[in-house]
Amino acid sequence: MTRCRLCSSAALASVVDLGATPPCESFLAADQLDLPEPAFPLHLRVCTECWLAQIPPLITPEETFKEYAYFSSYSTSWVEHARAFVADAVQRVGMPEDGFVVEVASNDGYLLRHVVDRGIRCLGIEPSVNVGAAAREAGVPTLTEFLSPETGAAVRAEHGPAQLVVANNVYAHIPDVIGFSQGLRALVADDGWVSIEVQHLLTLIEENQYDTIYHEHFQYYTVASAIRALASGGLALVDVELLPTHGGSIRLWARPAEAAGEPSRRVADVLDREKAAGLQELSGYTQFSSRVAKVRRDLLKFLIEAAERGETVVGYGAPGKGNTLLNHCGIRPDLLAYTVDRNPYKHGRFTPGTRIPILAPEQIAADRPDYVLVLPWNLRTELAEQLSYVHEWGGRLVFPIPELSIVDAES
Ligand SMILES: [Zn+2]
Repeated sequence: MTRCRLCSSAALASVVDLGATPPCESFLAADQLDLPEPAFPLHLRVCTECWLAQIPPLITPEETFKEYAYFSSYSTSWVEHARAFVADAVQRVGMPEDGFVVEVASNDGYLLRHVVDRGIRCLGIEPSVNVGAAAREAGVPTLTEFLSPETGAAVRAEHGPAQLVVANNVYAHIPDVIGFSQGLRALVADDGWVSIEVQHLLTLIEENQYDTIYHEHFQYYTVASAIRALASGGLALVDVELLPTHGGSIRLWARPAEAAGEPSRRVADVLDREKAAGLQELSGYTQFSSRVAKVRRDLLKFLIEAAERGETVVGYGAPGKGNTLLNHCGIRPDLLAYTVDRNPYKHGRFTPGTRIPILAPEQIAADRPDYVLVLPWNLRTELAEQLSYVHEWGGRLVFPIPELSIVDAES
């Protein structure tokens, strides 16, 4: 990588180098285990001109999204999050009866189904064929496309401008930030709203969430760098909310620059916090790699000691980000016998690189392991509750991030 993808500066500084790993969603079928498995470098750098943190675009979204394994509706808390968002957003934008909502990267329709329920016209734009088909089956009109300025203009020409454009958990996944931002502007009405949820680099750094760095996440935003990114498409930030999702996200409310007006007090407050954390100078980024190394040492030490005591450890969840953690730490089935996942697509497959078998969740109760390592740590509250049955046989839950913590029945 030689140039920043947002401002073209050559001033890119290293934040953390996680080595080379396979794409985190490339779960292997049994008949792929004897085939070569390509690995790609995973090195996060930050642009010292615009402070956009980024990794080189080595794997294109076209390769990733042909058959995507992530179905949003498998997470109960995520569906509830979407329902609450729709109720709030419809009110905020003052949605007219004949209004139109577009969601980009609409996944399996987990969010737009709440828009359909309210009788509001909507369209999902979802690049992956299998996930988009699931949305259509659930009654959510869905176009199989990537958002570009051309796609945006075509949708506007056919359906009219949207009062609300939603782009949740996608703004990090597109290597062409500028083209995507222009696509959002093409979709939205001149007095409309764009709502974007994306992981917040401030909490990623503060809370050691390095496992959320993976090849499909091309860039990592502060509010300061998001303002620059939105501006590249003619959009201006007017408000921001801090959300607990993905360990810490920002919901950006933007409008076409000419309709935006002054940003809210909350925007200034978050910018102040980012500045206080040193994220507008190199010092805020330079301590991160040594804290990442400590997560690895602590987790390996725990797994090795458990193995030496003859105790059993299995995983819960096979999220994409779990694979950054497993590969960076070098954890294989001798230390983690298997993991389980609610998504049946993953059953019988193996984690990329580390080749840990993925089974159905019922396996845990059948085997009664001593420890369950929870890979989607961001759902800690939900999963501590859901998995409390492991305490019935004296089992404990292990959360690797922000620092290793072991939960037994008393805690
Ligand atoms: Zn830059």
